[in-house]
Amino acid sequence: MKIQNQLLKATMFTAVLLGASITSQTVKADETNDANTTNDSAAKSEKQAVPLYNGFKSTDEVNDNVATTQSAASQTSARETTATNVSSNDENIAQSGTNQFKPQNDYYDYVNHKWLQSTDVDSTKADAGSIPTAQAQIDQQVQDKFESYVDGTIGTKDKTMQKALDFYNLYLSKNYSNMTDVSKDAFSGLRKVIDQIDSLQDLSDFSKHMDELMQEGVTLPIGVKVDIDQRNPELRALYFYGASPILLDEEGQTSNGHSQTQDIIGSALNNAGVPWSTIQGIMINASKFDEILVKNQSAADIKTDGYQNGYQDVGIHRQTNYLPVNYVNFSNMPVFIDMDHFVNQLVGMTPGYVYEMTPSFYNNINEIMIDENFAEMKAWMIANYVADTSNYIAKLQNNFPTIEGETKAQFNKRMAYYLTKDAFSDAFSKYFGDVLLPTETKNAVTNMAENIRSAYKEEISNSWLDGATKKAALEKLDDMTMNIGYPTQSYSYYNQVDINDDSDFYQIYRNIVDAKNYAQFSNYQKPVDRTEWGVLNSLNTNAQYVRSRNAMYIGTGIIQAPFFDINATDSQNYGGLGTIIGHELSHAFDSTGSLFDKDGLFNNWWSAADKEQYDAKYQQIVKAYDNIDFHNVSISGQLTADENLADNAGLDVAEKALKLTNTTNWDQFFKSYAKVNHYKYYFAKDDAQALLDREMALATDPHSPFPVRVDVSLQNNDQFAKTYGVKPSDGMWIDPDQRIDFWAKE
Ligand SMILES: [Zn+2]
Repeated sequence: MKIQNQLLKATMFTAVLLGASITSQTVKADETNDANTTNDSAAKSEKQAVPLYNGFKSTDEVNDNVATTQSAASQTSARETTATNVSSNDENIAQSGTNQFKPQNDYYDYVNHKWLQSTDVDSTKADAGSIPTAQAQIDQQVQDKFESYVDGTIGTKDKTMQKALDFYNLYLSKNYSNMTDVSKDAFSGLRKVIDQIDSLQDLSDFSKHMDELMQEGVTLPIGVKVDIDQRNPELRALYFYGASPILLDEEGQTSNGHSQTQDIIGSALNNAGVPWSTIQGIMINASKFDEILVKNQSAADIKTDGYQNGYQDVGIHRQTNYLPVNYVNFSNMPVFIDMDHFVNQLVGMTPGYVYEMTPSFYNNINEIMIDENFAEMKAWMIANYVADTSNYIAKLQNNFPTIEGETKAQFNKRMAYYLTKDAFSDAFSKYFGDVLLPTETKNAVTNMAENIRSAYKEEISNSWLDGATKKAALEKLDDMTMNIGYPTQSYSYYNQVDINDDSDFYQIYRNIVDAKNYAQFSNYQKPVDRTEWGVLNSLNTNAQYVRSRNAMYIGTGIIQAPFFDINATDSQNYGGLGTIIGHELSHAFDSTGSLFDKDGLFNNWWSAADKEQYDAKYQQIVKAYDNIDFHNVSISGQLTADENLADNAGLDVAEKALKLTNTTNWDQFFKSYAKVNHYKYYFAKDDAQALLDREMALATDPHSPFPVRVDVSLQNNDQFAKTYGVKPSDGMWIDPDQRIDFWAKE
């Protein structure tokens, strides 16, 4: 194993910290809010000859660019009509200020053109839109409240909030000058755990202290997590996985990313006061252990190990079903490790069975975890621990915006709040989610969500699904947990963390993170509670469906105008937050969601015939969006299909749910839909860098750009066409037999 030469140079750690994170696995395929993977690889080749929508230009720009619509001739005539201000006969619907923007031509522009024209994102390089605006609004409310606790204008009796205040004040008392000072503190704190690992005598000594090390946040070669039991969804089970190499890939090679990891670990150790000669020894030994791991595990198992380790949040990433293994057999397998002692310390009991996610690791554990390899194993644990720490600091640093010219006091106040909000994110989610959401509003949203569930059930009942599949789909909707507002569970792990002036600040921050990760083991004996909030913070302006729990989350952060307003009409609220709830529910039936059953387990509940029909419907969505132009970059129909499915079905079901209220104003409903989704991308700009960023975004983001999301789902909606009298010559027209209605019978 060669050690990179750079490693032996003392790098400035601030520069290193700005580099990419190491365990940067943030894609959580059990969830759907941000990231998603599409498994279906077919269909990309079958490109639609003529996309149904030609991009999203205001009518004053389009005359010289009309070639790609459904019918070039009719499109041109529609646009000429617009350009000469001859209005079409769209009856009662009010026109916007200028005749240039008509609902029938480009609805997104019609509703949003004034906002789009008056909003400048070029100078800020940050996007603008309903979501960032609402996020900034709620962030400010939370900060104002917290600061009134800090300055004593208001008091709080909440114990965890008081702890957060202690944490905030402790940070201020450290009197740091900048981020570099904060990092220095963090790296000097590394020494304690490194020495603890280094002082272990042999495997038998290690074996006695595994639980303790785990509580300290040390990654052990034996990986374990608690999650819903695949065989009994009311209970929790232990899922075991193995170790992945840190300085090599699964084939034993060093990539650029891996040498960067070496550099990062090396300079962090150096900043912790470890001499370079020792660092070199740690690197050589860690690489040797990597080689042992590669030699004794299948590539697939190594990938699973790596994924589980990178996935920091509690719970396993479930892509398959694992075989249960008799616990006695499992715990007897490693000759040199007292597995039984470890498991009992972790969960306080002896389980009947556990799940083994990476069998090759456990089959070969007596080749991997032996005293001959002990020095190598310790080096591997040190390298992982250091990499994790660097990763946390890099994350903090990357997310903390620099403000030029601020004073030290201003910097510290801002940093104190930022770190407190991060360390106490669960506490903030529970406490401020509650404080900022009136009960009346929470009840109104719950009521709307239940209407949407009912409408969805109606939709499924009348759908092309057959017999047992239909029954399973209805049960999935019935059993879905709809979490509205904020968490109500207790986050008792905060009680275990002591905040006092003697401690080094980063270590307290890290203790909180580690206590959170370890809390899963204290919950092991408790029954599964699907009202528990997992990953989504209630203060985020976002919504989420978690497949592995069959649960939806709509937090306080998105229950605000323009998404939802207790004083707005039902039509406005259903067109806003209602369509978002419909969208999240639809993720239960997207290409990945449909692989999970009502209990959130990876089980096939589809008949062969229904699956075939599903695939055909899905391909219709793939084709409908494929090659749609967004500022000269094409959308991938395959990449965006799950989100497009959710948009179309979500709009449909919100529309049907609104009918249940008997107060329909369709103009309000559709306007609200276009407004909550207004968004201005900085990368839509007409320059070379923006084009590159746009190409990158459209190649990776599973969501279509918002103007496309709005207009195409409206083009597919019959009620929309009816409301605005859309005609075949209009931009918003699609022939009725070509419109996507995912659940409708042919
Ligand atoms: Zn989505």
